[in-house]
Amino acid sequence: MLALRPNCECCDRDLPADSLDAMMCTFECTFCSACATGVLQNVCPNCGGELVRRPVRPAEKRLTYPASAERVFKPLTGERMKKHADYVERYRGVDPAKR
Ligand SMILES: [Zn+2]
Ligand SMILES: [Zn+2]
Repeated sequence: MLALRPNCECCDRDLPADSLDAMMCTFECTFCSACATGVLQNVCPNCGGELVRRPVRPAEKRLTYPASAERVFKPLTGERMKKHADYVERYRGVDPAKR
């Protein structure tokens, strides 16, 4: 089950469980669509994988299976920024299935 993290890991913007603006990678690193398509160029800074829209869990199901309240915030600075630049060089424009 997806954790449904409450914020963008890159800019810390809130991403509520019903947001259509949340994107994530296969490890559930979670970003707003502005970061995902902008600075991140559809390359996850942690794993190099693609970013896709996070599916919204229906409100009724969130009563039983609530979204995570644990914020993850890792701004794209220093070593993290260098690692992402390397990933982008390798993977930008590369079909996610070929990464
Ligand atoms: Zn963001
Ligand atoms: Zn990732």
